[in-house]
Amino acid sequence: MIRKEEICKQCGARCCKGPSPNITIFDVIRILKHLGEGPEKVSTYFEILTHEEYLCKVLPERFNVHISYETIQELKRRLGKYFENILIIKLKKREDNSCIFLKEDDKCSIYVVRPMACRAYPLKITGPDDSCPMVKYGVDLSYERSMLEIYVREIEEHYRLFMSREITTVRQLVEVLSEYWNKVPIL
Ligand code: SF4
Ligand code: SF4
Repeated sequence: MIRKEEICKQCGARCCKGPSPNITIFDVIRILKHLGEGPEKVSTYFEILTHEEYLCKVLPERFNVHISYETIQELKRRLGKYFENILIIKLKKREDNSCIFLKEDDKCSIYVVRPMACRAYPLKITGPDDSCPMVKYGVDLSYERSMLEIYVREIEEHYRLFMSREITTVRQLVEVLSEYWNKVPIL
């Protein structure tokens, strides 16, 4: 049976060179702590924007990914005013769209604290990403499944918090990170 590491090596970290998954405040805290930084450094390592900006501007203009009109309308219906105002957090990208945490040898520089969505990949909330060779080779994804369960729990809590508090500014985001800072262990 071909090993996951070999498949990823041959693939060349493709999943770290495209659009970013949604990052939660729990991911941000673990990563900033690991880097020895504080909550106020969130904008140094992460891109912070609204759903509207990300889906209607960043995805098509930067990644050439076009979300259908119907999907946008469905999201707007589900999120209501939050679509336009509450913040989402994404991994920052370099000019070539690779993640800022990706090293030259295609390894992750924050591997032990990488975001839950990265740990769960190629499993996503919407289902497995068939474009990942791991899915094609049919490798055992039980570890990724357990990470997806944690990701789902964390993203639900993250959204509940952001919607109930209407987190619409970086200053509010830093306040929330500070509030949760001591409640989130590094690993
Ligand atoms: S997880 Fe999949 S897409 Fe990402 S590097 Fe490995 S094989 Fe490639
Ligand atoms: S955090 Fe690490 S695993 Fe996730 S996209 Fe960036 S380099 Fe890849």
